[in-house]
Amino acid sequence: MNNKARYEALRRHLATWGVDGVLFFDLTVNRYFSGFTGSDGVLYVNGRNAVLLVDGRYTTQAKEESQGASVFEYAEKMRGISRIVSETGDGAVAFDAAHLSYDGYMKLVSALPDITFTPITDEIDGLRAVKDDDEIELLRKAAHVAALSLTETLRNIAPGMRETEIADRLDVSMKAHGGERPSFDTIVASGSRSALPHARPTTRAVERGDFIIIDYGTVVGGYHSDETCTVAVGGATEEMRRLYSVVKDAHDRAIGTVRDGVAAREVDRTAREYIAGNGCGDYFVHGTGHGVGLDVHEYPRLSLTSTATLEAGMVITVEPGVYVPNRWGIRIEDTIVVERDGCSFITEMPKDLTIVG
Ligand code: ZN
Ligand code: ZN
Repeated sequence: MNNKARYEALRRHLATWGVDGVLFFDLTVNRYFSGFTGSDGVLYVNGRNAVLLVDGRYTTQAKEESQGASVFEYAEKMRGISRIVSETGDGAVAFDAAHLSYDGYMKLVSALPDITFTPITDEIDGLRAVKDDDEIELLRKAAHVAALSLTETLRNIAPGMRETEIADRLDVSMKAHGGERPSFDTIVASGSRSALPHARPTTRAVERGDFIIIDYGTVVGGYHSDETCTVAVGGATEEMRRLYSVVKDAHDRAIGTVRDGVAAREVDRTAREYIAGNGCGDYFVHGTGHGVGLDVHEYPRLSLTSTATLEAGMVITVEPGVYVPNRWGIRIEDTIVVERDGCSFITEMPKDLTIVG
């Protein structure tokens, strides 16, 4: 992990934020900088040092994993933070406000009455958005495991198979190929249930003439894959093919706009206007995409209200969909890396209409 460069980039922000140091309660951000994968702990970074604060359950693990941060064991978290921050002599400290409870904040200010605390939220979002080569390699590995697994699973789908069985087979296959765990609860939604953008798999048996939306991913080295394939069971009518090609063309056109310097909302607008122009505007009910990394959903969002600008090295999804209530739905999602003059694909599954069973 290239975490020296990550700390350096962070330290360049401290002056802009008007602080001497920053406390991270978010364990994902903590992991991004320190490498610590435990489920409780705090990271303090100032202009000179980084300290990973953990309780006794994690001391050994923290010492093994930590890169570039010294490890401090506390008996009580706020007292531990108070001790470390006091020792630095720092007077102004930022913290990630979205990850500290009000109760925790009150304890913090009473333990350190002489410190000026600055809440930061938006400022942190962008820190992890541009991925380095190590991160992109892990994202590619995760997407590769996912593609191998879905290819196997699709080969075995037949009419009569339940959504839950398809999801279970896919999850088992991803684990067998080296995935740590699914990126999120695998979505398998068939027939009229495919009209629900975030359906959970049920015991419904798939039938000829169904679309099946499969939105799935796996984790490798902490990094998530995210991809959606919509397949047809047994064949596809003209109407199904037409609807599929509207979503596929919207997906391709949106991806065609992606490059360094483009506003995230432009990518969304391209997909949205194309779908609306084909009479399906009311059926596209979510944003076009999001960043992917140590979190499956992270900065930037690709939506009409997004103020983000795409930068080379950002990893994002493009996932337009059309959902006709009580009939069917289609979503097509790829994960891509933004490049100076375009983008390249992380996900591997072909997105032309596939017939299974
Ligand atoms: Zn997805
Ligand atoms: Zn997604």
